[in-house]
Parts: sequence; C-alpha cells; structure tokens
Amino acid sequence: METLVRGGTVVLESGSFRADVLIRNGKVAGLVQQRKSNPFTGQVIDAAGALVLPGGVDVHTHIGITFGEFKTRDDFATATRAAAFGGTTSLLEFAFPEPGEDPGEAVERRISEADGRAVIDFGFHAAIVQRADADALAGIERAAKLGAPSVKVFTAYRGLMMLELGDVLAVMREAARSRSLVMVHAETEAIVERASGELRERGIADARHHALARPAIAELDAARSVLRLARESGATVYLVHVTLPEVAEEIGKARAAGGRAFGETCPHYLLLDESVYTRPHGERFVCSPPIRSAEAARGLWRSLGSELTGVHSDHCCFDRAQKKVHASDSTRIPPGLPGVETRLPLLISAALSGRLPMNEVVRLCSSEPARLFGMPGKGSLLPGMDADLIVVDPRRRGRVNGLHMSTDYRPFEGMAIRGGIETVVAGGQLLVSSGKWVGEEPSGRYIHRRRLKA
Ligand SMILES: [Zn+2]
Repeated sequence: METLVRGGTVVLESGSFRADVLIRNGKVAGLVQQRKSNPFTGQVIDAAGALVLPGGVDVHTHIGITFGEFKTRDDFATATRAAAFGGTTSLLEFAFPEPGEDPGEAVERRISEADGRAVIDFGFHAAIVQRADADALAGIERAAKLGAPSVKVFTAYRGLMMLELGDVLAVMREAARSRSLVMVHAETEAIVERASGELRERGIADARHHALARPAIAELDAARSVLRLARESGATVYLVHVTLPEVAEEIGKARAAGGRAFGETCPHYLLLDESVYTRPHGERFVCSPPIRSAEAARGLWRSLGSELTGVHSDHCCFDRAQKKVHASDSTRIPPGLPGVETRLPLLISAALSGRLPMNEVVRLCSSEPARLFGMPGKGSLLPGMDADLIVVDPRRRGRVNGLHMSTDYRPFEGMAIRGGIETVVAGGQLLVSSGKWVGEEPSGRYIHRRRLKA
C-alpha cells in the first residue's frame, strides 16, 4: 500500500520546502509537488498547515536496566511506545555486560530482549565496565560485527562501572582498530569521592547538595584526560551528557588539533538549572553529572550545532519511591531522569519559540546522530530513506503532561510547550494519529549499524 503525507512543509537539516511525502514499502518513495487535484487512491495523512520532520533518533537511553539495587520501571515495549509518542522513531540503547559475558554476548542478549517488543527500530552500543581484560577488548570487534560499532566506558562509579584511565586507553586503541566509536561518561571519580565525602562529614550529603557532590571540575578534568587519550590512540571519541560549556570548548580544541571528538548534551542540562535540587523532592532530579547553573545552560545553547552535535535524552526511568529511598545521600540515589518522550517535543517547542531554527532541531535530534552512529536509512526524508516521520502542528500550545513513560513523575511537568506531535509514522506504519495510539503488532527492527569511516 502507498501512503501520501499531504499538504505539509517538509523540514530537513538543509532547510524546509512544501512537498507531499510518498511512502511505499516502508520507505520514502518520493517528495512530490503539491497539486490539489493529485489523484491518489492509497492512505492519505493530512498535514495541511503542519510541519513534516524525520522521526527522532535518540542515541542515549537506558531501558530495563539494573543500576546497583534499583531496576528501571520500563521495558522495551513501554519505553519504545513512549518514545514514539514523543516523535522518536529509532533509539540506541546500551548492552552492559553481566558477569561472565563479553560485550558481544551482551549485545546479542539485548537484541533478544528488544526483538518482538520494540515498536520502533533499535540498536545497541557495546560497553566495557570495571575491567578491560583481553576478552572484553576482543568483544569490541565482535560487537562491531554484530552491527554495534560503538563502545561505552565510564570514568565514574567505582566498583560498578568505572574503568581506570589505563583501561580506557586500551579500549580506545582496540576501538580505533575496529573503527568503533568510544563513548565516555567523563567524571573523575576521585574528585567526586572527595567532594561527596566532605558533604557527608558535614551532614549535608542530601539531594539538595547534589550539585556540590559532583563538582564541575570532576567533569572538566575527566573530559580533558579522555580527549588527550583519544588523540594518543587515534580513537574517535564521543562525550555523553556534556553539562559545561568549558567541556564543549575542550571538544572544539581537540578537533582543531586534528582529533575526532564529538559530544552531546541533554534537554535537562539545557532547560533546567541547579535550583531544581532545592525544590521539594529534589531527589527526583538527581543525575550524573548534576544539572548545573543557568549560566552553564546558556553556554551549552551556544555550543549546539558546533562542538555539541546531538541532544539526546539519557532516558532512565526510575519512579518517585526509588528516588526517595536514599534521598539523604545523593550518591546512593539511582541517577537519571525519564525523558525519551519529552526530548523532541521540548526541542521543537524551543524552535517554535525562536531559540533555534527548526532545521537545526532535525540536525541535532535526527540527521547528525544517524550519520555519526552509522544508520544510513535514518535522519532524512529524501527518497530511499526509511519512512520514519512525524507531523507537527506548529499552532498547538499546551503544557507537559499526560505522558506515557513508566514512571509517576516528570521532570518537565507543567512546562509550557509549543507545537504538538499529531502523527508518527515508523517504517511506513502509522503508530500515532491525531495524538492517539493506532499502532498494531510491535514491528521495530534491529538496526545493524555501519562502522566509522576510515
Ligand atoms: Zn546515560
């Protein structure tokens, strides 16, 4: 069957133009000139007066994972459905190895967890945690062969995730050989330990003081180290959840010196500031790194599209009860905010309010991540691409509420928002129509990604 998305303005990263989008066999078959009398017998999606964007690509989510004593409340069925409601039609998750598993085996296990449950396309990043022994390092190539040419490491969370810098360097060397991207959570653990230890001694280690427990210098120090190691090893490096303009600047310097360095930030670092920790239930905003000052957020906006080429959710779905258990010790609160559903609507709203051009939203939330992470069918609506698209009513105004993520609180609750995602199509299938779920059987497919270019 053919589908025609009729009457809208198509927004691509290169700009916008009026066109109808013709969909055939799950792909974009053409962008056709709009004629009132176009005879068409297939399914018609009305986009008159609306914007038609490529579906969102979220490369940073955590779904159905256990972190210390807590397990996130969602799974691939619920999280991908929430993502789709928010206009995201593909996502990349992490495959954290369980004891005894190598990174390749972890990727295989995670594919089987998502298969048949995900309603949008999905892929995985490999990960190496705690120790980079020979088996783990060999797993980088195994994962790349399985279509997961990226590997995540942490310089923080000792005993849980952390690698020492020597191990990080070994991962980078191996990843450079496999043409895999190295993704780094950069915070220097020793600085975090010292700062949080001092707060504990003073009896103020609670969520209100979370920003002090993980100071800016910890992020800046780790970012500098890993950027230096990446240059040394020839690896392509990607800093996840950058919260500081100073770190973005370091990425720019690394590039100017010939390195291949990239970075992302997240909506909560752009749109919230550290005053959230002094609200009642500040523990619900605990994440690592913490949400910083309003000034830092303004600096991040200036880096968007240059040093920072992506805005991703870092979605992590804990609920109020889980966040509250250790509210008096912020280092023990399960870190992360739910956000896979709100990322794209918040950015679209920012564009409609004049904060950035709409084609820049497409670039940051779809096109650039699709390119960097090796997903050639994603991030555009040119003929031949996957028919993943959203229809946005730019006139709609409302507030963030009524979401579908498996938790009982929302970090952006009540925030005024412009634009409404009316229709979501993934792989040519209609998932959301007039804001209502109309999807049928889960048909998300595994995205076998390409390696970095040599
Ligand atoms: Zn994360």
